[in-house]
Amino acid sequence: MFAKVDEHGKIPEDEPVKIDRFEPILQRKFLVELGKEWYSVETPIPPANSYEPLIVQTFEEGEQSMLLSKRVERSAAARKRCLDIHGHQCLVCNKSMSDRYGEMGEDVIDVHHLNELSQTNGKYLVDPETDLVPVCPNCHRMIHTQQPALSLEAVRKILTKLC
Ligand SMILES: [Zn+2]
Ligand SMILES: [Zn+2]
Repeated sequence: MFAKVDEHGKIPEDEPVKIDRFEPILQRKFLVELGKEWYSVETPIPPANSYEPLIVQTFEEGEQSMLLSKRVERSAAARKRCLDIHGHQCLVCNKSMSDRYGEMGEDVIDVHHLNELSQTNGKYLVDPETDLVPVCPNCHRMIHTQQPALSLEAVRKILTKLC
């Protein structure tokens, strides 16, 4: 969207900004279904995480900072950083999927957002060290059986009680 400019190429300051023209841009996006709504995102989201609310974020460390449109995006870089910091073991049950499934379970791990992302409006800055935690798909599903999501501690307690 471009604003109308005066003869000096400047946007006039003493009147409301007028739209001059639009530039059509075609971008490849991926559709993700969350709840009853569809969102368009730049990186495909693994189905295992599809019940996680989409992140609204700018992730600046390491990767180029991303300017988000209105919809939220999940940063694959933030996920990777989280796993680099916290490892591939579930922080609830302390198991990794490769403990259970061998080689095929190696990259299967969810990343859970400790902050209720759906409640953040617009931009949200994610710190992969403090905001993101690795959890196995089972524990992750249990965390999200309630709204707001259960704490890791709450699910851990239930697990240890039963074992
Ligand atoms: Zn687990
Ligand atoms: Zn989650």
